[in-house]
Amino acid sequence: MPFWTIVAAQDTTPTESANPFQAVLDFFKSPTWHFVTLMFYFFLAVLWISCAYWVFKDARRRIDDKIVLAVAVLTGIVFGPVGLVVYAIVRPPETLGERLEHELEVAVMEARIGDEARCSFCKTPVREDYLVCPTCGRRLRTPCPSCRRPVDPQWRVCPYCEADVHVASPAFDRA
Ligand SMILES: [Zn+2]
Ligand SMILES: [Zn+2]
Repeated sequence: MPFWTIVAAQDTTPTESANPFQAVLDFFKSPTWHFVTLMFYFFLAVLWISCAYWVFKDARRRIDDKIVLAVAVLTGIVFGPVGLVVYAIVRPPETLGERLEHELEVAVMEARIGDEARCSFCKTPVREDYLVCPTCGRRLRTPCPSCRRPVDPQWRVCPYCEADVHVASPAFDRA
């Protein structure tokens, strides 16, 4: 093989791939890349709308104040996934239904405690071990005939000594 042929061959080889990034640049101009970009924006839009919708749905169940609700929904729409994260951090911990349930539970518990701690006749606050109401003098509990501890008139048996108190206290005023 003559020398010039080798030189020519060596010359032509580098010019063919003069720019090694040409293939990459071509890819970015190709319809495939265009399609990938479109899909990316499409999924971003879907993600954005889903986030905004989730914030709207969740906020409606947790917030009854119209203005706060509007701010939460706007945060979801404007900031999308970021808004969702922010909303998830600052949102009320319980839904309106859960809050109502919780308030009812507390009210029932308070009412029960209030009943137990008050004279059933004049509503004076009384202690568990009072035998009579200090205000109206009505009998609240009777002393157990066996151990003398205060027992409720509703009880059949003394919880302290197991004595039968219902029969043993016929003098109790059952009014
Ligand atoms: Zn009383
Ligand atoms: Zn007893």
